[in-house]
This record gives sequence, C-alpha cells and structure tokens, in this order.
Amino acid sequence: MSGEGVDLAALDREWVMPTYKRAPVEFVRGEGARLWDSEGKEYLDFLAGVSTCSVGHCHPRVVEAVREQAGMLTHTSNLYLTRPGAELARRICESSIGGKAFLCNSGAEANECAIKLVRKHAHGRGVAEPEIVVLEGAFHGRTMGALSATPSMAANESFSPYLPGFIAVPRDDPDALRAAVGKRTAAVMIEPIQGESGVIPVPGEALVAAREACDSSGAILILDEIQTGMGRTGSLWAYEQTPVRPDVMTTAKALGGGLPAGACVAAPDYGDTLQPGDHGSTFAGGPLVASAALAAFDVIGDPALLRRVRELGARLREGLEKIDGVAGTRGRGLMIGVELDEGIDSGEVVAAALEAGLIVNAPRPDTIRLLPPLIVSEEDVDRSLSLLADVISRT
Ligand SMILES: *Cc1c(COP(=O)(O)O)cnc(C)c1O
Repeated sequence: MSGEGVDLAALDREWVMPTYKRAPVEFVRGEGARLWDSEGKEYLDFLAGVSTCSVGHCHPRVVEAVREQAGMLTHTSNLYLTRPGAELARRICESSIGGKAFLCNSGAEANECAIKLVRKHAHGRGVAEPEIVVLEGAFHGRTMGALSATPSMAANESFSPYLPGFIAVPRDDPDALRAAVGKRTAAVMIEPIQGESGVIPVPGEALVAAREACDSSGAILILDEIQTGMGRTGSLWAYEQTPVRPDVMTTAKALGGGLPAGACVAAPDYGDTLQPGDHGSTFAGGPLVASAALAAFDVIGDPALLRRVRELGARLREGLEKIDGVAGTRGRGLMIGVELDEGIDSGEVVAAALEAGLIVNAPRPDTIRLLPPLIVSEEDVDRSLSLLADVISRT
C-alpha cells in the first residue's frame, strides 16, 4: 500500500492518463500561502490551486468544518433533504443575484447547468433552435457542452462533433456582439475577466452591449464567475465592479474552500426554469463539501478581507510594473496577468520561480498569472516581488 520507495513520477506515468503536464515536484503539506514538498522545501504559493484555495491552504475554519461534518454525515444523495447545501444555496443567492442555485461539483458542471437552463428557457419562448453567443478567448470548461462554448478548444477536431448553436464573436467588438444577438439567442455567456487565456478583462462596453442586447431580445446574460468569483477581484463577485448584472451566474473554484464545489445561480425570473427530472448530480451539494463552502464564505464574505484584496492587488501590480522585464499587468484585485517583455518566455520564468520557491503559472507564452490566496500578507506580496524580480532578471 505504502508508496514508500516507489518513484512518484514513474507511478504517475504508468497509471495516470497523461492529460496533465506536471512539474516535477510533490507537495505534501500546505498552510496559508505556503506549501511544502516531499523534501521539506518551502514554497510561497501564488497560484492557490488555480484559485481554488483562496482562503489559503488548510484554513482552520474550513478544516474544523470538514472535520466536524465528516464525523457526522458526508452524503445521502439528493433524494433527501440535508441542511448545509440549502444554507449554501441561500448564501450564494443572497450575496449575488437572488433567485435560486443549482449546486454541483465543478465549474464545467455549473456551466452545463446554465446551458441547459437557457436552452429550456428559450424553448419556452418558442425558439426552436436556441443559440448561445460566446466571446473569443473564453474558457468555460472541458465537458462537451462547456467545450462547445469555448471557441479556441472547439476548433480541435479530435473531439468533434461539438454541440451546435454556439456563436463566437470578438471580445473587443460590442457591435459584433450586438449583431450576433437576435430572436434565436437563448443567452450571451461571458467571463468578466478571461482567466485561462491570460487574465484579459472584457471591456465594460462589451458587457453593456451584451446586457442591452439580452434585454431587447429576451435572451439571458450568463456571467461565468468560476475564476473571478468568491472575492478574487476584490468584490465577492466580479460583476459588482462592472456596469452589468447577470441573469445567470456560474461559480466554482474557490467556492468549496479547496474542496470541489460549483453552483449555477439564476435570478428570480429564471430560478424555476429547471424542474424535477430536468437536471441533477449524485454528489452535488452534499453536506461535507457544502460545510467547507460555508466556512469559506465566512472567511471571504468579510468586507475587511475584500478591501485588503483590492489594496494588496494594487501593491502587487505597482511592484510588478517596476520590475525590469515586465511589460505591463492586467486584471483586478488579486487576479493578475503579468505581461513579459518580448523575448522572455513565461514557461521559463514559471520553472525558475518554482525552483526559487515561488509558485505561479503561465496561461500563455508572454504572460504569467498570479492568483495568490486572498489571506496573503503584505510581507508575502513583497517577497513574491523580490523573487520574481530576481527570477526574471536571470531568465
Ligand atoms: C476553471 C474554469 C472553468 C472550469 O472549471 P472546472 O472546475 O475545471 O470544470 C470554467 N470557466 C472558467 C472561467 C474557469 O476559470
């Protein structure tokens, strides 16, 4: 049973499907913004599990909630009532657009629910072949529906045929967006800041164009806040800092406090669109994960923490922009894309940073992405800056 003596990389190579390119490091413990590997080396984690561990690793409140719930009841299926999931749904809805939530286990699943909801709603309005307008550069997940909504990946013919009915328009062209929305449009689906494509904020004009086009056509505006939500940008939800409010919002990543959780929230007019038998998921909203999510909400819902996210984000960006080799920064709050000068390869910076004890990632060849835990200290922000300055100067 014990893995002692077995080379982990070899084990992974032999038995795990090779869908991930993994860095050669084995993490064994985490606390706050720190991780430790199997050799005892300490790292400053400025990726936080791609924004899943926004409360930091092993936050005492999450650990306590999980311990207590795990010893009481982990899951019963969704054939029965359990309290933590219902409380979590209330928490998500009350803090955002009201209405009702469908709980699930991941981001892709949250978007699948949104896609089904808006298609059913469109059929209810007599639209025979509903369309969903999406933006180029978007990432909505890797299940077949979410993949079909992700233009760059739906170009990969290995997995065709994709779901029909998705129309992609450029991110920065409000007129093209307006023109793409019509009688057949069920929804416009947008990530307020495109995370996987390199932390690229969608311009306010494009969001307003989407909102107006939806209002005049009867379509639903979906915001994918899977990465931007749960405090990442310095407000609980990123849309709060934009001129628009969605009708449907999806979230996941940080929602579970490090455990797998997602949600699709529908505003009051749309909360009853999906009826018994229309949708479901065996594990979704179970007591264990919901308890962790409620604890994460207690931590992240604190206005003082959200103010700190904005302040530390500003401090980090100011510092980054002074580093030789940094061409500029993008993003909001503690969701930051760092564009490097031409000739500097982000993959090399990421590898050298890991070696130096700083974890970041490279969503594209010219950009590194910082998603530190929201509980990060000023000292750690400053430490990340000096580590990055050093690493970039050597790359
Ligand atoms: C990560 C992400 C997803 C997919 O979430 P999974 O939990 O990996 O399925 C979808 N949309 C956005 C914006 C994301 O960042």
